Amino acid sequence: MRAQVCIIGGGPSGLLLSQLLHLKGVDTIVLERQSREYVLGRIRAGVLEHGFADLMREAQCGERMDREGEIHHGFFIAHDGKLDRVDLARHSGGNSVVVYGQTEVTRDLYAARDRMGGKVVHNAEDVTPHQVDSDAPYVTYRAGDDVVRIDCDFVIGADGFHGVSRKSIPKGVLREYERVYPFGWLGVLSRTKPVSPELIYCKHDRGFALCSLRSQVLSRYYLQVPLTDRVEDWPDHAFWAELKRRLPDAVAAMLVTGPSIEKSIAPLRSFVAEPMRYGRLFLAGDAAHIVPPTGARGLNSAASDIYYLYHALIDHYERGDDSGLDAYSGKALARVWKAQRFSWQLTMMLHRFPDHSDYENRLQATELEYLFSSDKALGSLAENYVGLPF
Ligand SMILES: Cc1cc2nc3c(=O)[nH]c(=O)nc-3n(C[C@H](O)[C@H](O)[C@H](O)COP(=O)(O)OP(=O)(O)OC[C@H]3O[C@@H](n4cnc5c(N)ncnc54)[C@H](O)[C@@H]3O)c2cc1C
Repeated sequence: MRAQVCIIGGGPSGLLLSQLLHLKGVDTIVLERQSREYVLGRIRAGVLEHGFADLMREAQCGERMDREGEIHHGFFIAHDGKLDRVDLARHSGGNSVVVYGQTEVTRDLYAARDRMGGKVVHNAEDVTPHQVDSDAPYVTYRAGDDVVRIDCDFVIGADGFHGVSRKSIPKGVLREYERVYPFGWLGVLSRTKPVSPELIYCKHDRGFALCSLRSQVLSRYYLQVPLTDRVEDWPDHAFWAELKRRLPDAVAAMLVTGPSIEKSIAPLRSFVAEPMRYGRLFLAGDAAHIVPPTGARGLNSAASDIYYLYHALIDHYERGDDSGLDAYSGKALARVWKAQRFSWQLTMMLHRFPDHSDYENRLQATELEYLFSSDKALGSLAENYVGLPF
C-alpha cells in the first residue's frame, strides 16, 4: 500500500493533519492502535485557543464547534476567599477562547474523515516506522495475522506520549527535558449545571481546584490530590465535600452536585523532546511534549505543531519548497517552550507544594497580589491564555 503521508495516531493531532492535507489533495493514511469508541471515550481537554478554532474551521470541521461551543471572554481565579476575574478580551486586545470538549473535536474530525473517504485504520497493532532516515521510509502494522506495509514520503508521529514514534528515534539523537510534579488532578465529569459560566481556578491551602465545563449542562471539576491517591479513594460524596471546602463560600453555596459519569486521576508532568524531526519522521503533539493541564496548553500546543507541519508539507508538495520542513522542529519548539513556561508558571502559582517553605508560600501569594495589581501582568497572562500567534 502507498500513501504520501503516513500518520501514526488517530488522536486530534493526527486526524486534524490528515483532514487539512486531504483538502489540499495530499493522500494520507492514519494508523490508530485503539478502537474509535476507545478514543472517543477519553475525557481530556476542553479549552481551545482562537487559533485552534480557526484551524478547525479551515479543516471544514468548525460548524458544530461554532454552534455548540461557548466563547469565553474571561475566567476567575479564587484565592484568599476572593474571586478575581481575568478579563481576557480587555487584556488581550479582544481575543477569547472556545470551550468545546476534546471528545467533540475528535468526533467532528472523525466525521469529516468519514465524509471524505479518509483512510483511518483502527486497532492497528505493532505499528512500526522503518528507514525514516532514508528517502524511502515505510510503516508496518499488524491486522490479525497479516502484516501490512505502507510506503510513504513522510511519517508523522502523532501517537501521544506513550506512542512508538518518539521511541523509534535512536538514543543520542533526542534530548528529553522533564519535570514531574508531586501531585495529580482528580477529575470528575457530571451532568450538572456548571457552578459558574466561566472557569474558576482556585488556589487554596488544602490544594488547587478547578471548576470547568463542557457545556451549560455538563460540568468538569478537578481537585489536586497526592500521587498516592486512587480513584477508589474518592467516592462522589467525598469529592463534592472536598471541592466545596476549597471554593469560596459564595461559590460553594451554588454548587450543584450529581453522580459522576467519569472520574480519573491524571499525574502532572512537563516534558519536551528535541528535535521534533528525525529524517522523514516528524513528531507532533503529545508525542513530543506534554504539559500539566493548568492553563489548557496541551491540545493547543498540538494544534500549533499541526499548523506548522501542514503548511510545511503543502509547500513541499505544491512548490517543491522544503524550507518549512527544515524549519519545522525549531519553529514548533519555540512555541512549545512558551506554552511550557506558561503552564509551569500557572501550576507554580496555583498549587500547594508539599515541600514549600513559608518563604516560598509567601512568594506564591505575592505572585497573585502582583497579578491583580498590574494591567501589564494581566496582559501577559491573557496573551498567553488566548494563545500566542502561530
Ligand atoms: C487525563 C488527561 C487530561 C487532559 N486535560 C487537558 C486539558 O484540560 N487541557 C489541555 O489543553 N490538554 C489536556 N490534556 C492534554 C491533551 O489531551 C493532549 O495534549 C492531546 O490529546 C494531544 O493530542 P495528540 O493527538 O497529540 O495525542 P493523543 O490525544 O494522545 O492521541 C494519540 C493517539 O495515538 C494513539 N497511539 C498511541 N500509540 C500508538 C501506536 N503505537 N500505534 C498507533 N497509534 C497509537 C493513541 O491511542 C491516541 O489515540 C489532557 C491529557 C490527559 C491524558
